[in-house]
Order: sequence, then C-alpha cells, then structure tokens
Amino acid sequence: MSYELVRGTRDLLPDEVRRWRQIEEAFRAVAGRYNYREIRFPVLEHTELFTRGIGEATEVVGKQMFTFPDQKGRSLSLRPEGTASAVRAYLTAGLHINDPFQKWFYLGPMFRYEKPQKGRYRQFGQYGVEVFGSLEPSVDAEVIGLAWTLMTELGLRGLRLKLNSIGCAADRAQYHEVLRAHFAPSIGSMCTDCRRRLDENPLRILDCKEPVCQAFIAEAPGSADHLCADCSAHFAAVRAHLDRLELAYEIDPRLVRGLDYYTRTVFELVSAELGAQDALLGGGRYDGLVETLGGPPTPGIGFAGGTDRLALVLESKPMDEAQIDLFLAALGDDGRALALQLADALRRRGVRVDLDHRGRKLGKQLAEANRLNARTLLVVGDDEVAARRGRLKTMATGDEREVDLDAAALADALEGA
Ligand code: AMP
Repeated sequence: MSYELVRGTRDLLPDEVRRWRQIEEAFRAVAGRYNYREIRFPVLEHTELFTRGIGEATEVVGKQMFTFPDQKGRSLSLRPEGTASAVRAYLTAGLHINDPFQKWFYLGPMFRYEKPQKGRYRQFGQYGVEVFGSLEPSVDAEVIGLAWTLMTELGLRGLRLKLNSIGCAADRAQYHEVLRAHFAPSIGSMCTDCRRRLDENPLRILDCKEPVCQAFIAEAPGSADHLCADCSAHFAAVRAHLDRLELAYEIDPRLVRGLDYYTRTVFELVSAELGAQDALLGGGRYDGLVETLGGPPTPGIGFAGGTDRLALVLESKPMDEAQIDLFLAALGDDGRALALQLADALRRRGVRVDLDHRGRKLGKQLAEANRLNARTLLVVGDDEVAARRGRLKTMATGDEREVDLDAAALADALEGA
C-alpha cells in the first residue's frame, strides 16, 4: 500500500523550505519596518463568513471552497484567503470600538479547490497585510510601497504594478449597468458562466479566462471612467503619492480583482517569469467589508501575495550558502561517544555542529563535511580520546591547530579559526 499526496497539495522538502523562510523572513522584516504587527487567525471558519464577505458569485466562494459539515452539522470551510478572517478577528476583538486603526500582517496556508498547475495549488501559502480605519490615500500608497519594498529586497526586478479604481458601492452599481449594456449584445457568443454573471454580477465577467470571452472583455469600458467626484479625487491622490514614491504603475482599466468586497483602489504585481499564472500579489481597498460583516462603517485596505509563486520566481536566484561551524568526524565507539558529548556541549553554547552517526569510514565522513559546507573539521578517534587533544582544521585554508577536547577550549578555538 502506498499513500499519495492529496491532489493540489505538496511537500516542501528542506531545500525548498529554506527558500520559503527567506521569503517569510524578508516579509516579516519589511512589514516590521513599516510598523505592521503580525496576526494569526484560524484555518477553519464558519462558511458564512466567506459567502457573506467574499460573495457567492465569486469563483473562490462559488466553486473553490473546501466546505464540510462538522460533527454537529454546522458548515465550516478552510479559509480560501485572509481578509475576511482578519475582519472577523478585528470585530471579535472589539477593535472597531476600542482601537479602530490597525496595521496587521499575516502568513499562512490558504485552500482553494482549483485545477492544479504550475503556480496554482489547492493548498498554497499567502503573506498579506491589512490596514483598518483610514480612508486616506497615503495608506493606499504605503501598502503598495510595502509590497514593492519586499520585492526589491528579495532582488526581483522587472515586475509590473497594475493599478485601477473601481469606486464606491454607488459607482459600482452604475458601472454594472455600463457593463451590462456593453456585454448584452454579445452575451450569446460568450461562455455559460458569463451569461450567468451578466445578471448576477457583470464585474465578474472581467475576471473570465475563457478564450471566447477575451475579445469582448478587451473592449469593455474601464471602471475608472465611471467614478464619482470623491472616488475620482481619491484615485488621483493615490496616483500622486505613488509618483512621489517613484513607484511606476500602469493603469489597467479592466483590473477588478476576483472578490466582491473591493472598492476604490485595486492593484496587482505581475511577473513575466510566471507564465499563465502571472499574478504575484494583489490587493485593494474594501471600505464596505467591516460593515458587511456586522461592524460599523470602517475603511480597510490590504494585499495578499502567493508564497509558492514568489518561491518559483526566486528559484534561479542564489541563496546564502548554509554552513555549519564544525563537523566532528568520529571513529570507533569511544570516538563517537566523545564527539557526541562535545557536539552537545558546543550546541548549548550556540555553535552549529554536526557529526557522523552512521559509523562510516573516514573518507566518507570528510566528504560529508564538505557537502555540509563545514567551516572547520575535527577528527575524534582513539588517539584523540586517549590524549584528550585533537587537531582543528579550518577548511578554507587547510590550517590546523592543536586543541584540548573540551567544550570551552573548542569554542575559543572556533572563534579564531
Ligand atoms: P487572491 O486572493 O486571489 O487575490 O490571490 C492573491 C495571490 O495569492 C495571487 O496573486 C497568487 O500569487 C496567490 N494565489 C492565489 N490562488 C493561488 C493558488 N491556487 N495557488 C497558488 N497561489 C495562489
């Protein structure tokens, strides 16, 4: 009998985890510099949070959720994204009353029942930020700037920042009518999903990936041309901030993002290196979401990026070589016993040490020390056990020095090696 991975999930083996940690650590560092604080929320939520928050007509909720009843028959879902949960956490903690302005970041797995392909999985990692409590365009620019700084820090160049505004709820209602009028004459030639979307939510037609629909979508009027005076001024102010921060963007008049909660600013970072699944990160404002989920009117803005995709884009970039401080080549039972004892004492002092556990010949152990990129090497055989002395070798230079085989003397010698 053999067990297989659940389709769309994958194991991250240690080399890949190094890459993920590089991303996660860079994200934590950058978010910290912008003074965003980490929040962790559950992987499981009541299904209704997502149907209400994200919208039933969206692909994510309509088709992609992992939903199941618990033992008492209540419908639960694995979170498909973070924003709805972040808003729920904000309300659960009563922050809308006590401390409404919050800058948060999060990291963790999300689940969507999508057709797996390169860069698209059913369990995937996201890193994201959310800011509650400000309508100011400076927040929009800060959030976008944070995303941009992260990418720069990771050494990514050639990314494109796509920007649009989809306006407030009233603008959206008006834009729906504009889109209905645009698509109605051709809807018979479009896919069955789009026929349904025309009534349900014509904005979702703009996310459609079906080839037959693309020509009609390319000609659709842009949302930014149908904004009220306030939303138009907000969009202009966001653009002016981005100009001052020297963040180059392209206006994409048909960028609307796949979730219903977005208002005003929407944006995406795309990478040419990703092929079909080119979106590295996306976000926008959601000024109505806190209210939709039962709180007072409270503006919000955020983004989420895909960790798997970022790891793919970074694949070709070198990472700092992993190194250990010392490899102990142990010979014989007594040699291994002393090597283990020394290793343990040194590790307690913060030294990164490894040793042979397989009773291998000296040649194999030396090869292992090279493979592990050990900075120094010490052979512990019968002579060394008897004399309690050994020779510490610095691998880069080949220099050797005599050392007493106790942890304090070795730790000192390592500092100078
Ligand atoms: P979204 O919440 O759909 O805006 O997604 C935000 C980001 O998460 C995207 O830009 C992708 O990088 C990533 N992402 C979304 N869905 C998947 C998936 N099924 N597999 C891998 N990454 C994904």
